[in-house]
Amino acid sequence: MSPPRLSSSRKALDAVLARIDGEEVVELTRALVRIPSVYRPDDPGATEQQVANFVETWLRREGFRVEVQPVAPGRPNIIGWLGEKRPGQRSLLLEGHMDVVTEGDARQWSFPPFGAELSDGRIYGRGAADMKGGLAAAMAAAAAFLRASVEPAGKLVLGALVDEEDRMLGVRHLVTTEVGRELDAAIICEPEENELCLVQRGVVWARFRVRGRMAHGAMPEAGINPISALGSLLREAPALERRLRNRCERSRYLRPPTVTPTIVQAPPRGVGLPQSNVIPALGELTLDVRVTPGIGASELGAELDALCRAAEARHPGVKIDWEPINQFRLATRVEREEPIVQAMAIAVRQVLGRRPRWGGVPGSTDGTILRMELGLPIVTCGPGNRLIPHQADEYVEVAELLDAARIYAGSALKYLEA
Ligand SMILES: [Zn+2]
Repeated sequence: MSPPRLSSSRKALDAVLARIDGEEVVELTRALVRIPSVYRPDDPGATEQQVANFVETWLRREGFRVEVQPVAPGRPNIIGWLGEKRPGQRSLLLEGHMDVVTEGDARQWSFPPFGAELSDGRIYGRGAADMKGGLAAAMAAAAAFLRASVEPAGKLVLGALVDEEDRMLGVRHLVTTEVGRELDAAIICEPEENELCLVQRGVVWARFRVRGRMAHGAMPEAGINPISALGSLLREAPALERRLRNRCERSRYLRPPTVTPTIVQAPPRGVGLPQSNVIPALGELTLDVRVTPGIGASELGAELDALCRAAEARHPGVKIDWEPINQFRLATRVEREEPIVQAMAIAVRQVLGRRPRWGGVPGSTDGTILRMELGLPIVTCGPGNRLIPHQADEYVEVAELLDAARIYAGSALKYLEA
């Protein structure tokens, strides 16, 4: 590395960092939290539309080029970018989602869930950590390039997406668009205490349908009872968990695979009434299956098929099949040698003056889809306590928020200049 280049890039970094105003990042986070963006399918007004309008207006005012991607009615992705990807250059995405989960019972909160109150160095509110704080930090980091007139050597994309908390429609749409397809890497700004997370657990919600034959409870021999077969599936769940633990990789940053029954219904909702003297024709069971890296969709599918066949063998006449609710979301892992990881590790040292801390993501994120569909290297890193999302009294630490904005700016500069 030649000294003049180092000093010029250091100068650029200092210029960009100088344009990140801490108070403004706080106010931007609070403004986003104050716009409730809980998606409620039965209420056409309850979507991400309002917060999307806010983000779009903000990005246009800062001078970003903006693309509004209609994903579903009232649910647009807002994509802003600066710079362009010339041959040999890269495109980096700073990713955040605009939807938040329900506030639940507001009486459980010490602060109004959408009040964005500032107290003891924290911003309280639904979405403060998951993940309007991360989104605000990313917006501020990208805008700082424009404000400092530092043109990145490549394309820096800010993606504010819809529907992460439900079906991930926003990111599924993004990967089909031009701006999505030309990406080279992504930083997922989810709350991970600003650790650099290279591994993430995957999830499959496997819904089993067990078909038997309806009969009178007094004459069970006349029917085929799906509930007994459901029992067999439940009994086999711990053995499946053990097999997955043996097959999947161990990671010091991730909990091992788990197989957790979450729904049992017989008869399922909408298929006849539950009655004490009736053997239902149909039963359903959902297993929440979490995996670490090391298992593919077909291998996992084969394990679940085997579970069905074993229960069928034990209960003659019963037919069992299963389907993934909302598709497979496999575990992901990115190597430390990836340029985006190297860039972020250097950026943490440069902007925070400490060594990077490494971590793992307990659940799946929009990054899962970017990794699975586009093969992008992803690093999940953002402000907020990893355990606080979806709880009452959700908050984000102001100090972490500002650190995140600096990490994003430093990482983008480093990654794109290479
Ligand atoms: Zn999130």
